[in-house]
Parts: sequence; structure tokens; C-alpha cells
Amino acid sequence: MAESFDKVGLAERRFDTVLIANRGEIAVRIQRACRELGLKTTAICSEADRQAAYGKTVDCFLCIGPANAARSYLNPDAILLAAQLTGAGAIHPGYGFLSENAAFAEVVEMAGLVFIGPEASSIATMGDKISAKRAMIAACVPCVPGPDTALPDDPSSIERIALEIGYPVIIKAAGGGGGRGMRVVPDAGSLHEAIALTREEARQAFGSPALYMEKFLQHPRHIEIQVLCDTYGNAIWLGHRDCSMQRRHQKVVEEAPAPGISPETIKPVGMACVEACRQIGYRGVGTFEFLYENDAFYFIEMNTRLQVEHPVTEMTSGIDIVRAQIQVAQGLPLETAQDDVTCTGHSFECRINAEDPESFLPSAGTISDLVLPEGPGIRVDTHIHAGYRISPYYDSLIAKLIVHAPNRAEAMAKMREALAATRIEGISTNLPLLRALFDDEGFARGGTDIHYLEQWLQHRR
Ligand code: ADP
Repeated sequence: MAESFDKVGLAERRFDTVLIANRGEIAVRIQRACRELGLKTTAICSEADRQAAYGKTVDCFLCIGPANAARSYLNPDAILLAAQLTGAGAIHPGYGFLSENAAFAEVVEMAGLVFIGPEASSIATMGDKISAKRAMIAACVPCVPGPDTALPDDPSSIERIALEIGYPVIIKAAGGGGGRGMRVVPDAGSLHEAIALTREEARQAFGSPALYMEKFLQHPRHIEIQVLCDTYGNAIWLGHRDCSMQRRHQKVVEEAPAPGISPETIKPVGMACVEACRQIGYRGVGTFEFLYENDAFYFIEMNTRLQVEHPVTEMTSGIDIVRAQIQVAQGLPLETAQDDVTCTGHSFECRINAEDPESFLPSAGTISDLVLPEGPGIRVDTHIHAGYRISPYYDSLIAKLIVHAPNRAEAMAKMREALAATRIEGISTNLPLLRALFDDEGFARGGTDIHYLEQWLQHRR
């Protein structure tokens, strides 16, 4: 890792202005971290976000294109030009948009700017789920049973692989993402049709027909491990999160730590993740996602960026992950050693979305009145305010409500109160659903699997 650092050189990694290549709550979050570090900020926006309040507190606010993200937040040329025009020496991609785009990371660094994230080669390795799995197996990270190679074309070889794994299996596109490009195969009868359909989907949606196969786990939980690495070979993990409360593969509530998993069980997994980071020369923040079933962990993918749910780990570890990420990009060594990482209390995050609580259709419009909760152990990450107009063009996440308390039961009680105190008028939100969820006995017991929320929603109808 020292080598990659030398490639760029210490002087070039110094910067005093960060361009935030994102929008919404994460643009606010990044801006705050930059200011605390004494860095200036440039924010970019599309025409739809010109009125964003965070545009008033940055040093430069530049509109780089129309509402269509392909021509603004996803346009590398426009973003690089904005960086040049405003003297930004580094680009923070946030999450979504270009954050896991290896080609973007590369052009940023080729332009002599610092990409606040890992090297392009790490993004590329982890962006291909087959090469990611291969790297994890090499580092002894436990993976879902199944080969770390692309499926062959020959039907009888494919049948043999499925039999060796044992049905049910899941066919996944190597380049898949966002919960797409996957198909569960319950038995041999539907194997070839599932492969043909997924291959075609993969070709069209991800530009690569490469597929792989693994065991389909029926009742797993989604557990993830947050890592933080510098450019001197230091890598630490900051504990784990449980993100099993999902609808259509979209996380709705996250918590840290994952209930019912002992430190002895999770520690070897965390250490394996850290070792994998050292082996691949990983830089910055990242998340290893696992399925967890019958006391065993199975790696599914690594996210090479800051995640939406990073605050629950910040609350329990006391480490400002965004600040640390920027410091690593500046070429500074990690401030915290693994032995100094402690996990205190319990934290929940609710994703408040502008959507209909019954149909889940996005809800656009103007926020006429807004009351956000306050108090000890309560944090709200948001960009909205009374009078804010929610545009229909982007993600429906409008705020993250985060609580921290000494234990899980108290954190649940605090979230219940915080949700009750929250009022967002003028648009529809999922607040009623979140309130009902925090009154649910099954959720209160902890350790529910990734299907729980969808089943719960069906029973409520
Ligand atoms: P994406 O990159 O599209 O998010 P992931 O590989 O992270 O894809 O998988 C998304 C979701 O699909 C997981 O959270 C889980 O719900 C389900 N899934 C993926 N692989 C398996 C598997 N082997 N067994 C059961 N469910 C799986």
C-alpha cells in the first residue's frame, strides 16, 4: 500500500478544497466533515437542486447540468470541469451515482485530483462479483458455497455444478447490483431457463453476460462489517451492523451491533475482512456484506464506498467515518488502532423516505411543515427544511433518523419517541410504517431475517 501512495506522492495528495459530487443528505454530511477539518467545499447540483440549502453554506455552488442525472451527477466531464473551475483538489463521490465507478476514480486521479475512495483497481475487483469472491476466498473470508468462476456454457457442466452445490441455488450476474440480475432456482427443472433469462438480463443491464452460481440461503440475516484502511497498511474494522430489515432488497432500518451475535463469533470474520483489505491494498472506507444463517457467515459483496447506514457505526464506535475517510485520502495514517476500537451501546437508523406508506410510490411535492426530533442520543442527517421541494428525479431518501442508547431496548424506546416527535407535512412519507415497525414484537426480539419485513407487510394488509 505504501507503493500506491508513492505513485501519487505526498505533495499531490494535499488539498484544501473538496468537491462534493453528490446531493441530498450525504452532501450535507460530507460538507460538515470537510468544514470540521478546515477544508473548503465545492458543491455541484443539477437544475432540479438549485435551491438546495446546502448550496448556501459551501464555498462554491455550481450547477453542472439538467435534472437528468446522466447529464449531471453521472457526468464525469462536467464534474471534473467544476473541480478545475473552483480549484478543488479532491472529489468525494458520496454513495450511489459515480461512487463505485472505477473509470471515474481513474480519470479523477489521472487529472491530478484525489479521489476520496479506494484505488480504481480495488473498485473494479469488487465491482465484479466473481473476482470479488475469488479475492475473498484467497483471504479466507467465508463465502457462500459455489465456485469462484463464471458459469460455463455447456449445459451438463452447469447441471453438475448445481448438483454439487445442492438446490436451491441462485444464479447471479457478475456485474449485477441494486438487487437486480439474480434468479433463484428451486430445482433442476427450471435451471436452464433461469440461466438463459439471467444471462440476457445481465447482457442488457450490466453489459456483461458473465454469471455465477451459489447456494441460495433460505432464511439469512444481512450482517455487514465496516472497515477503514490507510495507505500505510493499517486496516481496522469498526464492528458490525444488522441490515436485515429490507423491502425489495432496499434497507429500511439498520442497527449496530447486530443483536444476538457474540463478539467471539464476529471477531474472526472482522479480522478476515481486515486481512482481505491488506491483501488487496484497500484504501479508505468499505463494507463487507454477509448473509448470516445458522451461526455461519457467508460473504456476498463488498461495497467500496461510504454507506447510507454508516452513522449507526459512528454512534457505537465514536469514530467519525467521513472525517477518517478524508484524512486517509490526504495521506494521513489512521488515528485509531484496532485495540482502541470499542463498541458502546446500541444504535438504530430509520430511513425516512418520501413515499406513500401503503403503495411505496415516490411522493414529490413541497414540505409545508417540518418538525425534527431533538435530545440526547438523537441525530438527524438531512437536507430538507420547511419549504423544500422534493423533486421526482432522485432517490426518495429525505432524512435519516439515528438514535443511540446504552442498550437495544432503550434505543428502541428512544427511536419510538423520536419517530413520534417527527412531523413532515405536505408530502407522504414512510413514517407510519416505521412507527408501526418499532411497535412490533418480532422486531423487538431482534435477529429477524431478510424476509421478515415483506412478510410483516403482507400480514398487515
Ligand atoms: P446487489 O449487489 O444487487 O445488492 P447482493 O449480492 O448484495 O446484490 O445481494 C442482494 C440481496 O440478494 C441480498 O441482500 C440477499 O437478500 C439476496 N441474496 C444474494 N445472494 C443470496 C444467496 N446466496 N442466498 C440468499 N439470498 C441471497
